[in-house]
Amino acid sequence: MGKVIGIDLGTTNSCVAVMEGDKPVIIPSKEGGRTTPSVVAFAKNGDRLVGQTALRQSVINSSRTIMSIKRQMGTKHVVNIDGREYRPQEISAMVLKKLKEDAEEFLGEKVSDAVITVPAYFTDAQRQATKDAGRIAGLEVQRIINEPTAAAVAYGVDKEQSQKIMVYDLGGGTFDVSILDINHGVIEVLATSGNNHLGGDDFDQCIVDYLLEEFRREHHLDLANQPTAMQRVKEAAEKAKIELSGSASTEINLPYIADAKGAPLHMEITLTRTKFNELTSHLVKASLIPVRQALEDAGVKGEDIDKVLLVGGSSRIPAVQETVKSITGKEGFKGINPDECVAMGAALQGGVLIGSVTGLLLLDVTPLSLGIETVGGRFTPVIDRNTSIPISKSQIFSTAANFQTSVEVHVLQGERPLAKQNKTLGKFKLKGIQRALRGVPQIEVTFAIDTNGIVNVSAKDLGTGKQQEITLTDSSNMSDLEIERAIRDAEQHAAEDAQLHHETEVRSRADHLIVQAQTQEKKKLDKELKAQLASAMKDTKKALRGKDLDLISSASDRLEQVLQNIGA
Ligand code: AMP
Repeated sequence: MGKVIGIDLGTTNSCVAVMEGDKPVIIPSKEGGRTTPSVVAFAKNGDRLVGQTALRQSVINSSRTIMSIKRQMGTKHVVNIDGREYRPQEISAMVLKKLKEDAEEFLGEKVSDAVITVPAYFTDAQRQATKDAGRIAGLEVQRIINEPTAAAVAYGVDKEQSQKIMVYDLGGGTFDVSILDINHGVIEVLATSGNNHLGGDDFDQCIVDYLLEEFRREHHLDLANQPTAMQRVKEAAEKAKIELSGSASTEINLPYIADAKGAPLHMEITLTRTKFNELTSHLVKASLIPVRQALEDAGVKGEDIDKVLLVGGSSRIPAVQETVKSITGKEGFKGINPDECVAMGAALQGGVLIGSVTGLLLLDVTPLSLGIETVGGRFTPVIDRNTSIPISKSQIFSTAANFQTSVEVHVLQGERPLAKQNKTLGKFKLKGIQRALRGVPQIEVTFAIDTNGIVNVSAKDLGTGKQQEITLTDSSNMSDLEIERAIRDAEQHAAEDAQLHHETEVRSRADHLIVQAQTQEKKKLDKELKAQLASAMKDTKKALRGKDLDLISSASDRLEQVLQNIGA
């Protein structure tokens, strides 16, 4: 295995790191950023843009720009562009591919292995979807690790003292909280909890709703169904939110946001931090439910926490920081960068996998209980939440009716008492059970959660000794066939990209040589050379008007040769 990159695949921004010696370093993007916006855009000319370039054009191309796709991972959501449907895995794969390419350019070598992080509270379907996204992007996903755990690894890798830490991770779209014990290189997750639908986007939405309401009150006009205006309002809302982390008040100025009877309308609204806190207090409160849950599950009191690591961009919101302090009595630790520590932790774990980092042991837990549906539509957990992973547990099941030869097993993940309130991971039928009175057949079902938090199920009829491996295929996940197709698509797109890139290079070289030739042409030159220059220039210009790249290249070669002769 070559180098393993660590990827924080965020809702809003993603980040990639790699081990250099014994230290994780952030890999900058081609555009020079230390993080890359998790944004994909389909330009009208067929170009696919990812990251900063996609974000930059989002206002004028909002209907073909995809943001926050992480929120849709593990669902049946599809994005339709020009009649082609893309699953969330495929869109995420485009972001991953860009990070992979940036890493390859930075390292000067091919990269094929990665550790990717996911929110600790991601379900099996969401983890599987993330792994599939990696596969589509051409990455061998060596390990999926939890974001808060990765942050703790980045913080705790060199800590000698034993300590209990809380990682409060509020990103763009998800919220996670984990309680960990760090002790001489052993990083043990005691409990984790969270909310997969709580993040910075929700804070933005509160501001958007407020701005729309204020605008409606003043101008009697609803901007909600004007996509370009809405994109501008959304951007302004996020900007205002970020400004309010540093100041007490901010101005939202959006000139020419709409027009009424031909007259332009402008949005000019002042938002104070107090008003922002009021608009979003329910969100901050919502984050406290998982915090209390995680503390209780870990058997730890708020005041026993030695250090609080604040991770994710939204943890910079002052009201969030005050609330965390009210529970633990501690200020958030400022020694780690909330945008970069997750990718760094993932790179460190990559180092562990290839043996370049030693003395670091990660003991993670499963965030949600795993079990099956039993009589009366109830959910019966087999593996409880916050159990250390990997884990494998078996339970014996039987038939409910006489001479039943098959049973349907409904596998679920979640914490609610009724089956229908939890997430279905899959259903499978066990056929060929020996005919017998109800309750007699003994079917041993084994549930296993691997180190990636991904679930596998197998079943054995103890009567016949027949073993069946069951692969859980949730309908929201992609089948192998679909993944293969997506891989081919991505490869084909990469080939098209390479071709486009080659064409641009060939044409711009010819353009550049013509400009040089035009400068030389004006100088006093030997008659023979002047004629050669004119002829080579004419041929290059003619070739440039056509589509034959080889012809452009050969004409450029000749022109370059003449220019060199002139120089000599
Ligand atoms: P992440 O997914 O960790 O990159 O977090 C991105 C989220 O953090 C987005 O919703 C950003 O708007 C938000 N964010 C970034 N910086 C700040 C800040 N200074 N104050 C408040 N929110 C921020």
